[in-house]
Amino acid sequence: MKPSISCAIVGAGMTGLMAARELQSHGIKVIVIDKGRSVGGRMATRWIEIEGNEKGFFDHGAQFFTVRDPWFQSFVDEWISAGLVREWARGFAQGDDLPHHDGHPRYCGTAGMNAIARHLATGLDVRVNTKVESLTRQAEQWSLALESGAAIQADALLLTPPVPQSLALLNAGDCSLPDGARHALERITYDSCFAVMAVLDAPARLPEPGALQLQQEPIAWIADNHRKGISPDAFTVTIHAGPDFTREHWEADHETVARKLLHAAGEWVRAPVKSWQVHRWRYSQPRLTHPEPCLFVNDAAPLIFAGDAFGAPRVEGAALSGLAAAAALLKRV
Ligand SMILES: Cc1cc2nc3c(=O)[nH]c(=O)nc-3n(C[C@H](O)[C@H](O)[C@H](O)COP(=O)(O)OP(=O)(O)OC[C@H]3O[C@@H](n4cnc5c(N)ncnc54)[C@H](O)[C@@H]3O)c2cc1C
Repeated sequence: MKPSISCAIVGAGMTGLMAARELQSHGIKVIVIDKGRSVGGRMATRWIEIEGNEKGFFDHGAQFFTVRDPWFQSFVDEWISAGLVREWARGFAQGDDLPHHDGHPRYCGTAGMNAIARHLATGLDVRVNTKVESLTRQAEQWSLALESGAAIQADALLLTPPVPQSLALLNAGDCSLPDGARHALERITYDSCFAVMAVLDAPARLPEPGALQLQQEPIAWIADNHRKGISPDAFTVTIHAGPDFTREHWEADHETVARKLLHAAGEWVRAPVKSWQVHRWRYSQPRLTHPEPCLFVNDAAPLIFAGDAFGAPRVEGAALSGLAAAAALLKRV
């Protein structure tokens, strides 16, 4: 390994950003590449323009996060002190209008979940709107071929997209993997999820604190972004479909999906819908995960897979996976 190495990170979600900060703080030259318009990946916040130049805001990916690990808690405490994160609730009603408090804080971004990612990206070399099309390994270097026709070279490569997408990038560059690693990676699967974002004419009538964790079909979750504090000028709700409904309707058009989900959510939302948008999360949350927090392919040019499908799922799992990936690479340097 060279004294000062470079690492390319594909994905500026929680995993990629946590890894990037950790590596950069240890003197590694890091470049983070993401095909999205903004950083954050599934920690996504979107706005819809409504009349009078006002905007309705939605968290349409991750809604909140929990903390079990003391290391992750230390980051979260900093974000709380910086005013970036707040405790939202200690549990949500599950369809019976009764609070289900289990004592564990659920945290959210005070200005939306995406703001946490934007904060983490500060001071990093992050290229958004930059899609990687294929990956090749030449001797001790990785080469990332971009959609623009340009290429990026790096000594080490960290892949944080959902695993089927990472494998597709390696396949596109005819890049081989050891059989054991490929087998472990091909076992990982994800659920899909439709998110319907609806602008309402009146406040939604969800129980305190303005969210319902139904975990049913066709609706898994409904949240009132106005009461959450991220959509001050408009009444907006985010509706997440369950995995079965999403799978069964994956080929349906937006109109059909929205009509069915808005109808099913109507009994809880109880307010007229002015407008809506649908987002399709093909890889929403992992169904089958890898037991270790990252997978290191030891080679002259190191390759690491990480993300919420490694170790533990969700936002916390992604953060810990990013930190584990950085530690694994630093151990090699
Ligand atoms: C609908 C939904 C609800 C959720 N609810 C919760 C919740 O309430 N609580 C919770 O803790 N977690 C929740 N999650 C899960 C949580 O969002 C994820 O676990 C976490 O954000 C994953 O982060 P990540 O960095 O591993 O992956 P991602 O955020 O997916 O980041 C991967 C990045 O890779 C980029 N990428 C992919 N391919 C390429 C390419 N070819 N070139 C360049 N860039 C590429 C993507 O654009 C993306 O930004 C939810 C997820 C969804 C979708």
